[in-house]
Amino acid sequence: MVIARVLFPLMLPEPFDYDVPDAMSVVPGSYVRAPLGKQDRVGLVWGLRTAPSDRPLKPLREVFETAPMTDTMRRFIDFAARYNVAAPGQVLAMALRAKGGLAPSASRTVYSPGPQPPTRLTPARTAVLAAASNGPPRVASVLAAEAGVTTSVVKRLAETGALLARPEDVDPPFDPPDPDRKGFDLSPEQADAARAVTGATGRGMFASILLDGVTGSGKTEVYFEAISAVLKADPKAQILVLLPEIALTQAVLERFQTRFDAEPAAWHSGLSEQQRRRSWREIANGRARIIVGARSALFLPFQTLSLIIVDEEHDTSYKQEDGVTYQARDMAVMRAKLEDAVIILASATPALETMVNAEQGRYSRLRLSARPGSARLPDIDLIDMRADAPERGQWLSPTLRQALTQTLQASEQSLLFLNRRGYAPLVICKSCGERLKSPATDSWLTEHRYTGRLVCHLTGWSMPKPSHCPHCQAEGALMGVGPGVERVAEEVRILLPAARVEVFSSDTAQGGTAIRDIIARMATGDIDVLIGTQIVAKGHNFPNLTLVGIIDADSGLQGGDLRAGERTYQLLSQVAGRAGRAERPGRALVQTYQPDNPAMQALARADRDTFLAIERDVREELQLPPFGRMAALILSAPDAETATLFGRKIAEAAPNGEDITVYGPAPAPIGILRGRLRFRFLITAPKRVDLSAYMTRWVAQLKLPAAVRLSVDIDPYSFL
Ligand code: ADP
Repeated sequence: MVIARVLFPLMLPEPFDYDVPDAMSVVPGSYVRAPLGKQDRVGLVWGLRTAPSDRPLKPLREVFETAPMTDTMRRFIDFAARYNVAAPGQVLAMALRAKGGLAPSASRTVYSPGPQPPTRLTPARTAVLAAASNGPPRVASVLAAEAGVTTSVVKRLAETGALLARPEDVDPPFDPPDPDRKGFDLSPEQADAARAVTGATGRGMFASILLDGVTGSGKTEVYFEAISAVLKADPKAQILVLLPEIALTQAVLERFQTRFDAEPAAWHSGLSEQQRRRSWREIANGRARIIVGARSALFLPFQTLSLIIVDEEHDTSYKQEDGVTYQARDMAVMRAKLEDAVIILASATPALETMVNAEQGRYSRLRLSARPGSARLPDIDLIDMRADAPERGQWLSPTLRQALTQTLQASEQSLLFLNRRGYAPLVICKSCGERLKSPATDSWLTEHRYTGRLVCHLTGWSMPKPSHCPHCQAEGALMGVGPGVERVAEEVRILLPAARVEVFSSDTAQGGTAIRDIIARMATGDIDVLIGTQIVAKGHNFPNLTLVGIIDADSGLQGGDLRAGERTYQLLSQVAGRAGRAERPGRALVQTYQPDNPAMQALARADRDTFLAIERDVREELQLPPFGRMAALILSAPDAETATLFGRKIAEAAPNGEDITVYGPAPAPIGILRGRLRFRFLITAPKRVDLSAYMTRWVAQLKLPAAVRLSVDIDPYSFL
């Protein structure tokens, strides 16, 4: 008998065996349905073998028509699972995340004007025919509603031949992109870079390229050339463009649409079930050519993945921290290698890891140093907040206030950046000094004035702002401390009563439409001062924006994790890069209490390479990533006793490994989360050690009660 080993998208240790019925045609990679426990479940054929039927096996129930998953994709799943210390089934689950995508598209009947002239024209029929001849073919209910009649009128007209009924896919395929459309005339520097990337794609071999260019230098136009070359060279080639989730706005998708005259297949958390199903089906069957998505798109089952672009490759949103933890940029490089594909990592502020890879020759590096046309980078000035201090209760220094006033007088736009949502990041009681915390969690509550609520940004818990202190019952004593974007907006409205001031954060702009709306109004000049969180830092072009103010440049430096300095530098230069994109020169004012900090100094001089060189030397000295390896193990338990007991047991179970150092267990900085106690281990090792294998060995031998949860994070970014 033929036996199929089926992997299920679940946290199971290995695939299970099934009998392949004679009538069923199955290959490795086939999507099937098979009984598991009491249910039938979708799974993937991981391998096939013939064996004598010595034990009865359950038969497969169904094989789907979807093109089988490629060998390369299955190898990638195995690799990602092994590297990130997860079960292959958990990674497979990420590849299968689209309900209904395995079945072919459902069909519906649509109506358009037909060949026969209508007989017996009634007013109802006339209205339907008028609606049908105006616009694309539509379903009966829509035409009937437009004409103000019942669907029977539409159907009767179809029977007489006055309307033509035909079936249409509910989820139509994506139109093929047109690779021959011409983009901009490239600058000489862009043209050189474009030649280098198309040269690499033409060789059909793995190549990894860092496209290192200042904000607005035209990196997107360069990788568009690579996309176009790949589309032309191979009619089956698929191209994946990864973007930070927040950049996946309509404006960006429209840029693809304009350049290639076709809508790309999108993949991100904001898709409807229907959009997700459609994208998945078209990608899995190899029909969608250009796919633009967030990090999770890397795990989609492409048929012929020839080119991967990771835009804003330094962006920390590529690191997935829940469930299977992974760094999508790093996984993308591995996937490109397995696929013999080209990968382009684009950034104005590449991650230190990427810079070191380029330095050591693993990635080739292309530089774009200038902005096309006359646009130039803004002048960046540090404001020493010790000397140029704001008035009490204010957050804007006199210099920044003056610059805001001048910019408004010149009818130009300003953008203020503060990475703190809400009104005040901390609420304390003036009477008893109590700081309000989220229940059962080590996190302060943030005051939000728009909603009148106190919110925990970690767990999402919230409550209306109470009139009495919950601790001492004093009335009206609760006070917000420190600035959030809403509070800065309040200050600007008092300073510039005539200005149109708006706040842009994930609270005020929820969902694609709201984000699009604010961006559009900023672009057309309907907003004078925009105050935003990091949501404003990404990829928008505002031609009349000439002033960028950074309210609290130091906030990122206080984090204490190994990438804090790097991240601050990246964020600040991205925000500063928003100013002066078009013909008008811009300037950026950076408020800091640490003007001598190397990150601030380098920012002011726009001297990225010096900044990175300092960071690099520190990391090398301490053997931190990318010069050494690091992993985290996080343990949580319902009470302190259990956490302490198992913390000790887990520590004792750590396998011996040469040169491996285990720190901990130590109480995590967020020591209590949703009522659970948390401990952390930090594990370091030299580069040559396979730390994933070490962690797998460690975790595999542990026997833990269900109440104790463990998670492994290879190359952690968050140290909470
Ligand atoms: P980046 O991706 O490096 O931030 P973009 O590709 O978005 O830069 O380009 C920035 C702006 O410059 C965009 O508005 C783009 O349309 C424009 N641009 C890019 N290249 C050219 C060019 N060769 N000629 C004219 N405009 C260009």
